[in-house]
Amino acid sequence: MDIRHYTVSLNVDPAQQTIDGFTEIDLTLKNASPDLIFDLTNVLAVKNITVNGKAQSFTHENDLIRMKANAPWNAGKMKVKINYGGKPYVAANPPWKGGFQWAKDSLGNAWISVSCQGEGAKVYFPCKDHPSDEPNEGADMFITVPKPLVVAGPGLLQKVKNSGNKSTYHWKTNYTISNYCIVFNAGKYTTVKRDYTSVDGNKIPMVFYVLEYNAAKAPHHLELLERSCRILEKYFGEYPWAKEQIGIAETPHLGMEHQTMNAYGNKFRYAKVGGQDFDWLLHHEFGHEWWANKVSNNDWAHMWIQEGICSYGDALYYREMEGEDSYLRRMRNSTLNFSGKAVVLADTADSDLAYSGDIYGKGAYFMHSLRYLIGDDVFFPTLKKLATDPAYTYHNQISTNDVLDLFNKSTGRDLKPFFDFYLRTTNRFEFVVKQLPRDRYRITLNNFDTLPVEITTNEGVKKLNIDKKGVEVTSTTPPAVDVKGYFYKRVIFE
Ligand SMILES: [Zn+2]
Repeated sequence: MDIRHYTVSLNVDPAQQTIDGFTEIDLTLKNASPDLIFDLTNVLAVKNITVNGKAQSFTHENDLIRMKANAPWNAGKMKVKINYGGKPYVAANPPWKGGFQWAKDSLGNAWISVSCQGEGAKVYFPCKDHPSDEPNEGADMFITVPKPLVVAGPGLLQKVKNSGNKSTYHWKTNYTISNYCIVFNAGKYTTVKRDYTSVDGNKIPMVFYVLEYNAAKAPHHLELLERSCRILEKYFGEYPWAKEQIGIAETPHLGMEHQTMNAYGNKFRYAKVGGQDFDWLLHHEFGHEWWANKVSNNDWAHMWIQEGICSYGDALYYREMEGEDSYLRRMRNSTLNFSGKAVVLADTADSDLAYSGDIYGKGAYFMHSLRYLIGDDVFFPTLKKLATDPAYTYHNQISTNDVLDLFNKSTGRDLKPFFDFYLRTTNRFEFVVKQLPRDRYRITLNNFDTLPVEITTNEGVKKLNIDKKGVEVTSTTPPAVDVKGYFYKRVIFE
């Protein structure tokens, strides 16, 4: 089954905390099949289903809708319309434990948010709930809410239809999009806008759906977003959705990387970086427009590509704003927070399992080590290629091996041992510094073939290839290994 397009049309009632409507799924069946199966939580009730306009019997058990035909379903194009409704899951701890959030803003207005990165979009619309299949032709959302709520959704706002005390917002994206980004937020929003000219010279509207009473904070906030966008474009290429918009929506939860309409809930709390206000949450979620939304992993097992490289983009912000030393300090400090688990746990890991891997800090640190190993002249162009080449972006989802192959090609080396060491083990490189007579020292690397390492002696810093055999240096002071912290390591003095 290849999903081509979703249309999600729902009447949303915050007073009853219910949703009611339909989802239409356009798909291509690649082979004839005895069953048609979609994911939808059993908390919601399916009323009826049509396939290519004809009523269809179905079962709905264990969060699966299953339809049998008298003869196998033929290969080819199909349109499936599923009418359903009910009380969707209430998010236990959004966005980490997601679902619907029926919140109120501080003036008591309804403020509705959907987050489902972990749970999957099946918590509120029927879909093929796997990251390997995004709808190639995008998605339409028709969300009806009571006035005066305003709906923020993916892509571009097409139309607002008012009828009685309700409004229907039609949002549409023509881009391929992850299921968990086909969501909406609704609140007593106003919009604050700013024009943005991309690195490639395209004019892109920047739009903030902000609660009315926070509107005064929005223009400065968009300046921060523009600065983040400039820096991310420098390293990763043009903003990925240039034909639509750079959107953010204020949410009652912390935030989520919803494509073209990032969820923002960090309450305008800024730190100073390079003398300028910086909102780590805004920058991180926005970085996901490249790493997660444009470059997507094809299985949860490879989630570090999204979270780790996005987190590396956070460190690059420091590099741009404060320089290399600030970036290095940040990378060194990050090792204190490694979780002690591998980054890639197993190729078949489910979404919860994948998130228990060390995908953020260590994923980012791996990029940092790789940069040092292969040098800036190769590393940065290759990273940009990963973010811009059609083979790795939009509807071509990737795995760890795709990243490895690309870096192998651009370096002409076999980096698999290095990738495996960082991503599939929890080991540190183990250096031993052994004192010899007459100010001599032997430095060996116990558990890896060979690495180029900066060694500091009383004479200064030298880059030496350290291996199992070891290298001898002369120094009146004990030599220091990799002071700047390019490698995840342990140094033993003997
Ligand atoms: Zn993230």
